[in-house]
Amino acid sequence: MSTAVAEQVATRKPLRDGAFGHARALSCRECGHQVGLGPFYACPECFGPLEIAYDFPRVTREEIEAGPRNIWRYKALLPVPSDIEESPNTEPGFTRLLRAHNLGRELGIDHLWVKDDSTNPTNSFKDRVVACALSAARELGAKVFACPSTGNLANAVAAAGARAGIPTVVFIPSNLEQPKQVNSAVFTDQLVAVNGSYDDVNKLASEIAGEEEGWAFVNVNVRPYYAEGSKTLGYEIAEQLGWRLPDQIVIPVASGSQLTKVHKAFQELITLGLVDDKPYRVFGAQATGCAPVSVAYKAGVDAIRPVRPDTIAKSLAIGNPADGIYVLDICRETGGAVEDITDEEVREGIVLLARTEGIFTETAGGTTVGVLKKLVDTGQLDPSLETVVINTGHGLKTLDAVAGSVGPAATIEPTYAAFARTGLAQTGATATGPTQEGTA
Ligand SMILES: *Cc1c(COP(=O)(O)O)cnc(C)c1O
Ligand SMILES: [Zn+2]
Repeated sequence: MSTAVAEQVATRKPLRDGAFGHARALSCRECGHQVGLGPFYACPECFGPLEIAYDFPRVTREEIEAGPRNIWRYKALLPVPSDIEESPNTEPGFTRLLRAHNLGRELGIDHLWVKDDSTNPTNSFKDRVVACALSAARELGAKVFACPSTGNLANAVAAAGARAGIPTVVFIPSNLEQPKQVNSAVFTDQLVAVNGSYDDVNKLASEIAGEEEGWAFVNVNVRPYYAEGSKTLGYEIAEQLGWRLPDQIVIPVASGSQLTKVHKAFQELITLGLVDDKPYRVFGAQATGCAPVSVAYKAGVDAIRPVRPDTIAKSLAIGNPADGIYVLDICRETGGAVEDITDEEVREGIVLLARTEGIFTETAGGTTVGVLKKLVDTGQLDPSLETVVINTGHGLKTLDAVAGSVGPAATIEPTYAAFARTGLAQTGATATGPTQEGTA
């Protein structure tokens, strides 16, 4: 723990009772050492990452189902106070779980589902983690709500801060897609574009967190609370499947936090008796231009060698992933895998999901869908088993990725003759697609 953080703890106001719900302590993932709940993220003994430990109450399916249609239906399982609904936030979660008949048929998978997190308030799964981080920041008395971001996180932090009335300062790599910059700047006039990679931005944020008092960097000094928000993806998938776990799940990997927390959520549901215990396989998806976890997986090694990202999947472009080693453990232990695909395959993944299911995903989702296809093609994923693929963000934020590959089939004068010449008048005449067969 840095002295700055220690001072911050010593001077902060006392926590209110139940400030973190049923969370009991912060526990080191490496050595198990425990510290009290506070603005800590690294183990004072070994510098390992700290994670929330709980004393869960008895929770029933009925209690959860009676809750609000957002992540707070699971508040008993999160580090948030029991009156969390009273605090302004963006109320993310409870997004659609769609049966993907057409994509499943295309890939030869019998039972395929898309968990569509692009419909969250700022159109990515990051609203979930930010809602939990915002609660922690408030309870810890933070004055500023901040983050280093690959784009989506900055959007979510800026929007949540605006709603909560807390000043936000968000940091992004200056080469980020313009729509993602605008999607932050519209909520805050304190967007800082840094000339460097995400890993440079992240390093800068840690430095600022050490210097400035009362700054809650959601994914740095309040990371243990932030990370728990991803568990709600796992809870929702299980609840929406009728309180059971899927056989296989494919999840994009940037820092690896989301994948490890979806697994943690499934384990908690088993422990709490909310779903039956069963084996499931967890698969991680990366883009080849930033695939440090996939490279380690394929090499059969435990250590992750940082890389300098070069991919259109910018929301996944973390060259030195904090939770990468845990992703390796989980994917290996569950019988899953980590795979990566080229930028061209990322684009194809975006278009494939759009044309089969009517869902426009961003490059991260293109990566996940493309990796799903590759896992089937290479025999790593069993197409006879029930599979869930997570779409984590919206395609409107990364329009440029596909702007060059799709567009008008024809540009014509406004006459029937001109239209007839395009051949498009024949559309539907010989169609054998799903509309002809009828779909369930
Ligand atoms: C941040 C992000 C991810 C990955 O998150 P990690 O928890 O860091 O692995 C995936 N998809 C999108 C769209 C993201 O913004
Ligand atoms: Zn430790």
